[in-house]
Amino acid sequence: MFKYAGVIVNNQSISLDKIFTYGIPDKLIGKIKLGSMVKVPFGRGNKIIDGFVLQLYNECENPSRLKEVVSVFEEFTVISDKDIKLIEIMREKYLCTYLECIKVIIPTGIIKGISKKSKELIYVNNELYDETLKDNYKQIYSIIQNNNGMYSKSELSKLFNISLSSINTMIKHKLLSTEDTIVDRFNTKDYSEYKPKILNEEQSSVVKNILGSNKNLFLIHGVTGSGKTEIYMNLVNEMIKNEKESIILVPEISLTPQMVERFKGRFGKNIAVFHSRLSDGERYDEWLRVKNGRVKVAIGARSAIFLPFRNLGIIVIDEEHENSYKSDSDPKYNTLEIAELKCNLEGCKLVLGSATPSIENYYRCLKGEVQLLTINNRADGADMPEVHIVDMRQELLKNNKSIFSEKLYEEIENALNNKEQIILFLNRRGFSTFVSCRKCGFVFKCLDCDIALTYHSKGDFLECHYCGKRYKALKVCPKCGSNYVKYFGIGTEKVEEEIKVKFPNARTIRMDFDTTRKKNSHEQIYNDFKDGKADILVGTQMIAKGLDFKNVTLVGVIAADISLNLPDFRSGEKTFQLITQVGGRAGRGKKKGKVIVQTYNPENSSIKYSLINDYKSFYKEEISIRENMGYPPFSKILSINLSSKNEQLLIKNIQLLAIKLNNNLKENDKIGILGPSPCLLSKIKEYFRWQILIKGEIDNILALKVKNIVYDCLQEVYNDIRISLDINPSNLL
Ligand code: ADP
Ligand code: ZN
Ligand code: ZN
Repeated sequence: MFKYAGVIVNNQSISLDKIFTYGIPDKLIGKIKLGSMVKVPFGRGNKIIDGFVLQLYNECENPSRLKEVVSVFEEFTVISDKDIKLIEIMREKYLCTYLECIKVIIPTGIIKGISKKSKELIYVNNELYDETLKDNYKQIYSIIQNNNGMYSKSELSKLFNISLSSINTMIKHKLLSTEDTIVDRFNTKDYSEYKPKILNEEQSSVVKNILGSNKNLFLIHGVTGSGKTEIYMNLVNEMIKNEKESIILVPEISLTPQMVERFKGRFGKNIAVFHSRLSDGERYDEWLRVKNGRVKVAIGARSAIFLPFRNLGIIVIDEEHENSYKSDSDPKYNTLEIAELKCNLEGCKLVLGSATPSIENYYRCLKGEVQLLTINNRADGADMPEVHIVDMRQELLKNNKSIFSEKLYEEIENALNNKEQIILFLNRRGFSTFVSCRKCGFVFKCLDCDIALTYHSKGDFLECHYCGKRYKALKVCPKCGSNYVKYFGIGTEKVEEEIKVKFPNARTIRMDFDTTRKKNSHEQIYNDFKDGKADILVGTQMIAKGLDFKNVTLVGVIAADISLNLPDFRSGEKTFQLITQVGGRAGRGKKKGKVIVQTYNPENSSIKYSLINDYKSFYKEEISIRENMGYPPFSKILSINLSSKNEQLLIKNIQLLAIKLNNNLKENDKIGILGPSPCLLSKIKEYFRWQILIKGEIDNILALKVKNIVYDCLQEVYNDIRISLDINPSNLL
């Protein structure tokens, strides 16, 4: 029995990021385990705060001076042994604190003390039913019998107008019974069965390969519509047969009702669904269902990787190339790396899937570290869509100033006439993305962010897309007073409006951040389009992946260049992925699909190769650029991003830091230090932003050294300067 505990206390401060030793009083000996949540006195005032036990020992120095643990949360240990290991690795790998790691692994509901969201549901007790019962009670009994175990007292009372006192009397006489049931709000809906399909040859060979191999890392490179979901489901099924558990990860934005619908329709209600829109209570519920072994399958966004399964058989990461698998708040973990760590710790399989694999992972396949499984055909025999490119410079020469090229206009008209559906994609929301004065050149920018404001015609306001701040839309230039205020650039709202003008009879719906703020609006739009309540769906990257609508025959990419012009070494890769994915929405039914891509850069290789669906050629070109430039996978990038409201202080300190880094690391010729320089987004939410990039061979030891230099150099200004360290950030903006 251990007498001392090593505890991480629940306090954010970076200087407290260490394990504190506490004595275990006799009454708690044996009750405190590794991973327990405890209450401990802390600081000079001995304030009682939460802590987490990461170590236990029998001996320690100076035991007489130790403070003692006050109490322990006895119901269960909140962190498993394996996760303690994971926390230690993550803390080193992502240069963050113990506490930050703990907080991604356990739901905040535990710390906040949110009790299980259980509900007392009412059941009938058939054995005690008695024919001589008063009519009034008989009636109530039969109502509840029809809704057995579905509602609580108060719900029954409200829904069926039953008096609470009658229910209570019936409970007292044991005609009714109550049972605490953890309620899963997502399971209230019934899902129609999603019948298993007979796998085609390509699909079944992929499944056989994965299950039969003694390797545990796979990448399925399958064209859009190749039936990857069906493969995942087959794998999950095998796991269930072998009493193993599965995690299916999908990008946040493609956690579409469709995916959930399919999984629930196949595996029943007993799968956990986990994503960022859940409330603290809901997350806690789902986490507990996993912890208690009540579910064997979870589907969710990146944080679902940490769900406390005990006997994991497989982790699937769909659309593995997506940015959203990289967390941008501490710990800045990469979900794929965590998944791989888990596979090693728990001995399970990791399956990545994509129609457009990330350059980094494809490279690992070619090196033999990951098994590559390729599918070249669509699962249901549908043809790949026919793709046309339109050079928008030519349209201008033809004096067509509309946002639709002649070709796209014609195809929209055709599809509408044939009662087929259309998806129009533009990766920018709002109406106009840039408002400026033609006379003096003044640009309307956010006061807090130094970023051009976007005009929203619905509501008639200007909005900053970084901080969300809204401004009145002015007709007069605030600088020179002229009324030559002009709106440039197009967003999804403008596309919607243009459709109204050009195709007044078409029914249009729009899916972007603005139309999906409400909790179920995403699902609503999806269902409406699926049910044919609209002809045209306009949207941002939210519509680019996952959606499988059989009646969509035309996909229009309004401006393929948007993501191309970002100053980021991944911009070519991102453009290739977006066009391929969004084009993949077309022609998934019996009729052949068409994709029209409008661009000002038809010669660009990202655009060119995505048109002919030639991933390999694109990869070849891209990997050689990466090699020449020394970008990942040939190097790592460690970004040191400092931000502050005080620009002078920020500049002074980052310059000082750069000197220190250069001095300390000058012997290391495997890395280069770039900067300091202002970030491209040089001010966000009143904070000025500067960065230093370190590029090259960066291992854990070097990263830790850098971390220490940074925190050492800046310790006087912790309160005024925010520090963010990120290894291989998803973007460098
Ligand atoms: P992906 O995720 O690879 O883009 P999906 O999983 O959405 O593709 O599958 C595309 C379509 O093919 C879906 O409508 C799916 O129901 C269908 N499908 C998948 N496997 C088969 C099969 N073996 N036979 C017939 N249809 C299939
Ligand atoms: Zn002006
Ligand atoms: Zn702003």
